[in-house]
Amino acid sequence: MTTETQSMIELQTRDAAIEEIVARLGVRAERGRRFAELTSLKVGGAIDWVLSPATEEEAAAVVAELERAQIPWRVLGAGSNVLADDAEHHYVVVSMREVKGVMRFEGERVTVSAGYSLPRLCIEAARRGLAGIEGLGGIPGTVGGALWMNAGAYGHEIGTVVETVRVARGGKVVDVPGSEVKWDYRHTSFQEGELLLGATLHLRPDEPAHIITRMAEVKRKRMDSQPHGARSAGCFFKNPPGTSLSTGKLIDELGMKGQQRGGATVSPVHANFIVTEGEDARAADALALAEEIRERIRRERGVELEYEVEIWRSNEQAATTDGQSETQSARTETENEQHNESKDVQEETRC
Ligand SMILES: Cc1cc2nc3c(=O)[nH]c(=O)nc-3n(C[C@H](O)[C@H](O)[C@H](O)COP(=O)(O)OP(=O)(O)OC[C@H]3O[C@@H](n4cnc5c(N)ncnc54)[C@H](O)[C@@H]3O)c2cc1C
Repeated sequence: MTTETQSMIELQTRDAAIEEIVARLGVRAERGRRFAELTSLKVGGAIDWVLSPATEEEAAAVVAELERAQIPWRVLGAGSNVLADDAEHHYVVVSMREVKGVMRFEGERVTVSAGYSLPRLCIEAARRGLAGIEGLGGIPGTVGGALWMNAGAYGHEIGTVVETVRVARGGKVVDVPGSEVKWDYRHTSFQEGELLLGATLHLRPDEPAHIITRMAEVKRKRMDSQPHGARSAGCFFKNPPGTSLSTGKLIDELGMKGQQRGGATVSPVHANFIVTEGEDARAADALALAEEIRERIRRERGVELEYEVEIWRSNEQAATTDGQSETQSARTETENEQHNESKDVQEETRC
């Protein structure tokens, strides 16, 4: 039997197992979707299966079944921090966008599911006179995506207000105290293969009008300094850890604004944003441009840039509980300390 025939049989067996799981759990399943439809960069190849659970319990059950059947999977929120390559991705994407649940405000606390929109949560909290996340209002992701990488902007980080996170463990919804999670600069101690289902945030009372004014100020700053309406994933690279350097400024100083590779361009507005344009834009264009930037910064400034955007490669083993992701696992303690040291600068300048 050829290797090709062998892998076709394996995929057929896997497909039969997935069909059985989705029928039994009643989960929405789609085939033939592409990352180009599911990510904000609007590039990236075909996905074998997209499963969209509707509740936290259903999401926990789905990944437990996939684990049991040893079927590789990855979780996607709004896709605003992912660049997936152009090839076929032979794993299951668990989309959390439908896991919105009911947002519950109780005093200074709000309980929200992972699929809820972060900007909407910030607006709802502001209206109720709850402060502490107003700097995050312009981050176009889900609550789950924000928790996963401790999203932050303009002096606020989600990790600082998390009281508990609900995590899928063994098919159940388990509460993990926020104090047990390590919240670093765009990085947490959550491991690949851990599905975040929702969180309870403890916010601080303030006048709604004051919070809304601060949100408007942050929005103005974003509008002035970042491309809007463009297909991007936000800042492509992190600021160099342990320094006060801004990556956007470094790239700008090399005169790279406006530089193009196929359908990908270094934004003329913010040099750390790679934007894609046109139907023909491919992930390979964005990746080639990103590598060109890294190479020039390495050569001309002696700085090694680290991706902030997550690169999902089709030929990499997707997560099962014993897998580890490039971004969440490879960081050392020293790097984390450096990240924390430079946090104040990062927060002000962003990237
Ligand atoms: C215009 C623009 C501006 C941005 N500005 C900022 C900014 O100021 N600050 C900032 O921090 N980011 C910023 N970003 C990046 C991005 O919006 C954030 O990283 C956001 O938190 C990602 O959320 P998401 O739902 O889109 O996650 P995705 O992009 O869907 O996923 C990102 C990672 O999180 C994981 N993940 C998602 N949901 C879950 C879950 N429920 N359980 C476990 N893992 C999960 C995914 O597997 C993936 O590894 C910006 C992006 C854009 C396009």
